[in-house]
Amino acid sequence: MPTPFKRARQTKILATLGPASNTKDRIRELFEIGADLFRLNFSHGTHEDIAALASAIREIESEADRPIGIVGDLQGPKLRIGTFKNGSIELDRGAMIRFDSDPAPGDETRVHMPHSEIFGVLEKNGLFFIDDGKTRCRIREIGKNYFVAEIRAGGKLSDKKGFNVPETFLPIPALTEKDKNDLKAALEIGVDWIAQSFVQIPDDVAEAKKLIGGRAALMVKLEKPAAIQNLEAIVDLADGVMLARGDLGVEIPPEDVPSVQKRVVRYVRDQGKPVVVATQMLESMITSSRPTRAEASDVATAVYDGADAVMLSAETAVGQHPLRSVEMMDRICARTESDEIYKTMMEEARPDAVDDPSDAITTAAFYVAHDIDAACIVTYTTSGSTALRMARQRPDMPILCLSSQINVARKLALSYGVHAVCTPEIQGEFSGPVPYACKILREEGLAEKGQRFVMTAGVPFGVAGTTNILRIAEME
Ligand code: PGA
Ligand code: MN
Repeated sequence: MPTPFKRARQTKILATLGPASNTKDRIRELFEIGADLFRLNFSHGTHEDIAALASAIREIESEADRPIGIVGDLQGPKLRIGTFKNGSIELDRGAMIRFDSDPAPGDETRVHMPHSEIFGVLEKNGLFFIDDGKTRCRIREIGKNYFVAEIRAGGKLSDKKGFNVPETFLPIPALTEKDKNDLKAALEIGVDWIAQSFVQIPDDVAEAKKLIGGRAALMVKLEKPAAIQNLEAIVDLADGVMLARGDLGVEIPPEDVPSVQKRVVRYVRDQGKPVVVATQMLESMITSSRPTRAEASDVATAVYDGADAVMLSAETAVGQHPLRSVEMMDRICARTESDEIYKTMMEEARPDAVDDPSDAITTAAFYVAHDIDAACIVTYTTSGSTALRMARQRPDMPILCLSSQINVARKLALSYGVHAVCTPEIQGEFSGPVPYACKILREEGLAEKGQRFVMTAGVPFGVAGTTNILRIAEME
């Protein structure tokens, strides 16, 4: 019997894999210490490398007998400058450099700009940033296939650094040819979530949904100002959301990030979809064994805001302390959730029930569970929708989700408080839902003899969207 992995927190941890974490042993350690899902980055590595990571995760999953989520992250149309003859150049403030369509390696006077679409939308005297905002430039001259910019700050430019034009809508679809190819590979590999980068308009999301065709869930990455402006329509089409503060924080002023984070997290929670707060959360742990106290506070803030999950990027992908980073995040989440102020904050933002029988039962079950101080809430669900409705209430106790669909169980690894267990197919007038729930609760270490739990189910079993039963039961 494998050890049950009952987490001491409800907020989930999504860890990015990379050179610092690409062996099966290391991935297992990350999982054991607290990572609930892993992000595989299609910006780096070949499809073979990524497939090998995914199969290592699946082996760990079956050895531990716990569903683990896999997120395949598509690069999207991240704009990058070309290369330099010597790898990099230094330019002082005030220097001028030309960006053009010639793919030849650049020097101090010019560099390749491979994205011809942007020549038409840039404006004279407009600002743009290179290398996550470290280099700031102002456009002084615009031609048909080039523009000339003045360096305003931080004049080191090196090969293929990222290029951001803040506050500008770019006429570029969110799925490049590379993304379409990677998406196909990701689906073949069997990822549970596809993360779509740089979406700007609902059509970007609709296109990805269509290509995915229900074979994985879709997480939109909010990292363009246009996506924030179109928040409602974009979230409506997506299955989940990542607030990707790395690129977003370059595209919008830093002082706007906290309020955008609060608004996005609250809205997405309200919609009953999982929301991940991402990037730079424990940044200094890339090289240091302890986080700064400001970083500890940032992780806690995401939890206080009501996020389903928090993410580690370079910390686990390339950092020197991947395990410590997950352990630290785990501790911060658990500590924050135990704070009385956190409980009050979750209560204040609690969503209203909608006019729907399943939702009414879920909401009632949540309040009953609190009133009787239940050890756990048990949801029998085929599609996972009841577990999502319950998660958005942010209950104090874990949500045991019983589903016969392994892909549902894996996808729910992202959702607040959901402990999913994959069951055999249950059909029709299943007579023993209470004893069965007791057995699983005991095996998973979620409740003990004499404790009470609240259960929701849909009868007949096996039909999606029929939640119509609310039971209070005691552990046998
Ligand atoms: P990335 O996305 O790590 O793929 O860039 C996250 C972000 O931009 O914050
Ligand atoms: Mn990004």
